[in-house]
Amino acid sequence: MLAERMGRISASPTLKVLVEAERMRQRGIDVVELGAGEPDFDTPAHIKEAAARAIDAGFTKYTPAAGTGELKQAICDQYQALYGVSYSPAEVIATAGGKQALYNVAVALYERGQDVITHVPGWPSIIDQIKLSDAEPVLVRTSAADGFAIRAETLLEAVTPRTRAIIINSPCNPTGALMPEREMERLVDGLAGRDVWIVLDLCYEQLIYEPVAHNLPRVLYERHRDRSILTGSASKSYAMTGWRCGWAIGPAPVIGACNALQSHSTSNVSSISQKAAVAALTGPQESVGAMLAEYRTRRDHMHAWLTADPRIRCVKPSGAFYLFVDISALLSPDGIPTSAAFAQALLDDAHVALTAGEAFEAPGFLRISYATSLERLKEGADRILSFVARLDAAGKARTATRA
Ligand code: PMP
Repeated sequence: MLAERMGRISASPTLKVLVEAERMRQRGIDVVELGAGEPDFDTPAHIKEAAARAIDAGFTKYTPAAGTGELKQAICDQYQALYGVSYSPAEVIATAGGKQALYNVAVALYERGQDVITHVPGWPSIIDQIKLSDAEPVLVRTSAADGFAIRAETLLEAVTPRTRAIIINSPCNPTGALMPEREMERLVDGLAGRDVWIVLDLCYEQLIYEPVAHNLPRVLYERHRDRSILTGSASKSYAMTGWRCGWAIGPAPVIGACNALQSHSTSNVSSISQKAAVAALTGPQESVGAMLAEYRTRRDHMHAWLTADPRIRCVKPSGAFYLFVDISALLSPDGIPTSAAFAQALLDDAHVALTAGEAFEAPGFLRISYATSLERLKEGADRILSFVARLDAAGKARTATRA
């Protein structure tokens, strides 16, 4: 009944947990929600006011498909200010979130017979978008022992004559890891003379906790500009997930292709959201720092609470707002066998919703979002720890029965 390409992708089975959590909530059950991939903060007031002004002024019509000149300039100015890179509005397209930016690029650049490399644990849409473009995803694994750092060497080892592109997400969802600037330099040097694109997903670019060198756009701009695309978003930096505004920046021919594609699919980002995004990018930035400080506090607390049990292992993440927790020490064939089963049992018994590592090509892990209040995080941590204690008791009872 459906096109062949639909057989290549699926809605993630582990997202089922989040749907079930919603059903439980509707039945009046108090579920602690640690699954969300979005800020719990409200969009800052000055951004909402800009949107209200746009509505009142009748700025409610089509705009150019690639976005208004004002927004594209604001995006260029932001990247100039953050990274010292100079792009022109012809090298920018505004998209319905970073997700559409990555999708446009996938359709514009990749095709059958080509490989596109990305790293896992990683965000599932990147992989499914590669499949939808008819190319083959090639997955390179980062390791918990190395803090999930994204390394040039492992990416370069996967490069073959079929390689069309390498997609990098830093800070990374779900690991929170960053690609060190030095690794990007090595990657670009290793690709010299090869026709391989680098697509850099910067969705969490303003959510970095440690003062590490992370000017990856500058490295690409200086050494790989003709084959680099940056994608970004207002979603996480400005608590604007629902407004749907992101962007892609890169060589004008690719951006032109994205524009053509978008002009035949979704057209422009909502005119109102574009005005809001201009206010976000050009207005006061204090709220970005305030949210970052709050996320840092939450990260530190949640990390300390959970790792009080040594079997819950977790590298403290440098960016984004997730803890990526190794629970393999809590899994066993005669207890709870997989992280997906663990997430399901945790929801059923302790009413805590989170995302199992299977969704990110990383069985044995759980992703815990700390984009929720400290109070709810504490409640969630308490419930997780007492669930683990109950598991222990059940395990001991099983052993005793066998003996
Ligand atoms: N990249 C990554 C790694 C993400 O986690 C997300 C959102 N979860 C996005 C891109 C896209 O977000 P949006 O479309 O809201 O900008």
